[in-house]
Amino acid sequence: MSTYLSRLGLEAVNPGAATTSGFLATTGREVPSFDPSTGESLGSVRLASVDDYEKVVTEAQRVFADWRMLPAPKRGEILREVGEALRQHKDDLGMLITREVGKVTSEGLGEVQESIDMADLAVGMSRQLNGLTMHSERASHRMYEQWHPLGVVGIITAFNFPNAVWAWNAMVAAAAGNTMIWKPSIKASLTAIATHRVCDAVFQKHGWGGVLNLIIGDDADVGETMVADRRIPLISATGSTRMGRHVNQVVAGRLGRCLLELGGNNAIIVTPDADLELALRGVAFGAVGTAGQRCTSTRRLYLHKSIAADFTARLQKVYEQIPIGDPANDGVLMGPLIDDDAVRMYLEAVATIREQGGEVLTGGERVDRPGSFVKPTLVRAHRDMGICKHETFAPILYVFEYDDLEEAVHQQNAVDQGLSSAIFTDSFRSAERFLSHAGSDCGIANVNIGTSGAEIGGAFGGEKETGGGREAGSDSWKAYMRRQTCTLNWGTDLPLAQGVTFDI
Ligand code: NAD
Repeated sequence: MSTYLSRLGLEAVNPGAATTSGFLATTGREVPSFDPSTGESLGSVRLASVDDYEKVVTEAQRVFADWRMLPAPKRGEILREVGEALRQHKDDLGMLITREVGKVTSEGLGEVQESIDMADLAVGMSRQLNGLTMHSERASHRMYEQWHPLGVVGIITAFNFPNAVWAWNAMVAAAAGNTMIWKPSIKASLTAIATHRVCDAVFQKHGWGGVLNLIIGDDADVGETMVADRRIPLISATGSTRMGRHVNQVVAGRLGRCLLELGGNNAIIVTPDADLELALRGVAFGAVGTAGQRCTSTRRLYLHKSIAADFTARLQKVYEQIPIGDPANDGVLMGPLIDDDAVRMYLEAVATIREQGGEVLTGGERVDRPGSFVKPTLVRAHRDMGICKHETFAPILYVFEYDDLEEAVHQQNAVDQGLSSAIFTDSFRSAERFLSHAGSDCGIANVNIGTSGAEIGGAFGGEKETGGGREAGSDSWKAYMRRQTCTLNWGTDLPLAQGVTFDI
């Protein structure tokens, strides 16, 4: 067994459900986890059953009754130590992400750093779960709003951020006084188990086992049970729009709350006056980084017609020189797709692009080596290509030309998704036009920065079919709490609001 796996305490076979008493024995099927660079098994996980889920949710509810009463800054103290524990295990967790998901080393480490940043942020948040006070219209009355935790939060995460997306939710949810159940993607289950163990050990040390809970099970039984469970007031779900639409309908059916972080179809606009060197780097990282498997990956590029030919030629050269290979190796910038299913979807998309009249300028095929590697693909596209409206979770970039900025912004917005967007320009007017009310309709709008690589200080999420959720920084903690308006009468009369009288 590799040392990083042993240091993270991952046995060859791991049962899938966790509570305060450690991992439960289950009778579920065993699912191997593969290294997509080699196809080799890294270990396997025994899936949890619905019975296991029942034990986990019961425990999470029991612990919530006490956890919510611990003062928030004391909860923050524990999260500070969680940040320290993540720092200690950063290299091993980063390596596990590289092996299990195929991220290049700096991105695997960067993901763990994001979780560390979230822990730090949550420590501060734990002292700032602030409500407003209002002036009452009634004499000797006081009004204010306060925020209470919700209860047991369900967290569903996608494969492509197997550590950080949980942390966006978990650190804030815990600071806010909730307990939680994490149902990660089966494709990244070892990273989930290791992440959970590192963080849960801190909670256990302080006698707070059962705040963080993990359950790895099939969507059809454990997933559906969790989503439909009335004991879970909030389901935070990150993944495809298809998944989110279904989860949202089930949760709405029980009038629960959803926090949705779904698919993107992100565009960059490059104006004629842009710093083209900067734009080239921004586009290349956005489209090729993480092998195009970020929700914020750049999928569409709008080039002003005066620079389009030259910029496309330069980009093509960059694409043809991208070092592809073992993501753990120095200098490699692009690793594999998550699995062979993803390769199949990429190849199907390339076939559809050709059918729809797109010109594949470079890429469009599998890399001739073991593992799930494909070539980054650049496509000269036209507006009638239906496929450009959909998210293909692979490194495929559609290049369009435009005449004027109004038209480019309109085209950028003319998709169902609304996650991230960017403009490269040195024109103050163009930048402000892009950021105006009539500009980008996305949750994220960047100037002279690509579409991917958000910092945790700002609220993260997108509009339209991206789901409308906001996570991480700013005031996103409010999603994990319920607001209560309190009015106190310290006088001796009982005046009614709006001058209503009711004298008995
Ligand atoms: P996916 O939709 O296939 O799966 C996401 C998660 O949902 C997995 O854990 C899966 O097990 C779970 N799931 C699916 N059906 C379920 C059900 N019925 N009940 C409960 N859980 C269920 O997505 P994926 O392939 O893992 O990830 C890629 C997608 O995620 C892309 O569309 C990407 O854009 C999106 N994503 C979005 C964000 C964001 O912040 N907006 C971040 C990361 C990924």
